[in-house]
Amino acid sequence: MTARIIDGAAIGKTIRESVRQKINSFIAKGNRPPCLAVLLVGDDSASQVYVKHKEKACAEAGITSKTFRIPTTATEADILALIHELNQDRSIDGILPQLPMPAHIDRVKVVSAIYPAKDVDGLSFYNQGRLAWNLPALRPCTPAGVMELLKHEGIECAGKQAVVIGRSVLVGLPIQMLLTHANATVTCVHSKTINPEKLAKNADILIAAAGSMHLVTKDWIKSGAVVVDVGIHRKADGKLTGDVKPEDALELASYFTPVPGGVGPMTIAMLMINCVTAYESQF
Ligand code: NAD
Repeated sequence: MTARIIDGAAIGKTIRESVRQKINSFIAKGNRPPCLAVLLVGDDSASQVYVKHKEKACAEAGITSKTFRIPTTATEADILALIHELNQDRSIDGILPQLPMPAHIDRVKVVSAIYPAKDVDGLSFYNQGRLAWNLPALRPCTPAGVMELLKHEGIECAGKQAVVIGRSVLVGLPIQMLLTHANATVTCVHSKTINPEKLAKNADILIAAAGSMHLVTKDWIKSGAVVVDVGIHRKADGKLTGDVKPEDALELASYFTPVPGGVGPMTIAMLMINCVTAYESQF
């Protein structure tokens, strides 16, 4: 079997284009454009690249972005004071603290300080709680992007065995919730799981979000499975790759999301959607 490649770059582009058209129609009616505030604390090189991608996507979609580049010496109180200011600012629709933050800043305090209607990363207690209850909310971007890819390809989740490798609040856990709400039977595999490959091999839908390069090989993939690779790693040659060994997934899976060009562009596309949702909720 040769897997069908799910082209997240093309799907994400279509979504961003529809966001741009929606924003144009708001602006044509005399409204201001949506505005996203990004907090970039410290000098983590991967974070700087991600923030650049977000700024570019915002510019293309017609969203104003304001990046607050904050030195590592800033205190937690400084960050919380800035979030408080942005919460009150009616010209700001979304607030996104780029994670990870430096170790002296408690990300839980930062994320939960954001007004839920402006929490475009969908990580606050309020939005994660509504996700658990399967109620409308700002959904975490990467998990929402994964579900959008499955939907776009017409992959039915109901009744399927899904295995999610990873249980982070940012990625693994919300994907498990979304798949459960879509009526899949979901198994979580994490770093303490015994014989993870045996569980993974049962999956009709296998989501790899472990942050471990090429962890998922032939032994983990059932023939005909849908394999979604969330991981992002930079190889020694500078190229990006994921948690899944691509040649193995291409050989065994029915569908596969490549890295780059799979889940990554969908994360950005879902952020654009969340910015517009947050903007509309201000009216
Ligand atoms: P994390 O480190 O917070 O969580 C990793 C999870 O994987 C943990 O729950 C851990 O228990 C599990 N895990 C680790 N090693 C494992 C192993 N050997 N076997 C089974 N489970 C294992 O990471 P995260 O923030 O959830 O991100 C995961 C990956 O996704 C990273 O590579 C990250 O760069 C990537 N990511 C990609 C996007 C995107 O847009 N494509 C967005 C966010 C994160």
